[in-house]
Amino acid sequence: MASLTFKHIYKIYPGNVTAVNDFNLEIKDKEFIVLVGPSGCGKSTTLRMVAGLEEISKGELYIGDKLVNDVPPKDRDIAMVFQNYALYPHMTVYDNMAFGLKLRKVPKAEIDRKVKEAARILGIEKLLDRKPKALSGGQRQRVALGRAIVREPKVFLMDEPLSNLDAKLRVQTRTEIIKLHKRLQTTFIYVTHDQTEAMTMGDRIVVMKDGVIQQAATPQEVYEKP
Ligand code: ADP
Ligand code: ADP
Repeated sequence: MASLTFKHIYKIYPGNVTAVNDFNLEIKDKEFIVLVGPSGCGKSTTLRMVAGLEEISKGELYIGDKLVNDVPPKDRDIAMVFQNYALYPHMTVYDNMAFGLKLRKVPKAEIDRKVKEAARILGIEKLLDRKPKALSGGQRQRVALGRAIVREPKVFLMDEPLSNLDAKLRVQTRTEIIKLHKRLQTTFIYVTHDQTEAMTMGDRIVVMKDGVIQQAATPQEVYEKP
């Protein structure tokens, strides 16, 4: 659980591409933020700066009251889920979910408890022995979520996690992610270019265009004053 504060954040890529331009935002602890906007508007870059995967060119980013600009990804208490799942193909579901904890030398019994608990939350207990190739797209996405959950991050980042799913599964998984947020009581930042997802999922929608925040408001406010 953590609040986030973005103070005049810029990302300028080599070649003088300003991908994020004076981004200012306060995200409350446990808030579900949806970052929405057309392709290329700077959503992924913003998320990647929060994860520490991309350097911040200018400005200050706080997680809680800690300035994290120079904090490496592994020390940020953050988990990120991508659209392409990024599962290890040769490992079982169980081992995919356990891997990050093993690296951190978490005791086996604790890993076991966390993996099984996450599997139960996501309804994938029966899939723990399978390899990713024996799973559907929706099941794979759940494993990717599971791998993030077991780390008990303070902030949960999702970059278009539903975009590889078919329409029906997308709606179903959307509902599950909303439930997951309620259950985990964690700060979520969810990136999408899908207006419907934006309007139905978040506590607050942050609309970006050309690296600039156009609007930051509740779905209700956006609906009334688009
Ligand atoms: P979105 O996630 O909204 O599609 P991105 O954050 O991926 O947008 O990209 C924002 C802008 O930054 C785009 O103009 C993109 O081409 C540019 N960009 C993204 N990554 C890089 C990079 N590694 N080097 C140079 N430019 C980049
Ligand atoms: P490693 O070989 O990496 O040491 P193991 O495969 O021996 O790991 O598993 C360690 C523990 O993880 C086991 O005691 C078991 O409880 C649990 N475990 C491993 N795979 C599964 C699975 N598919 N379903 C449930 N529990 C599992």
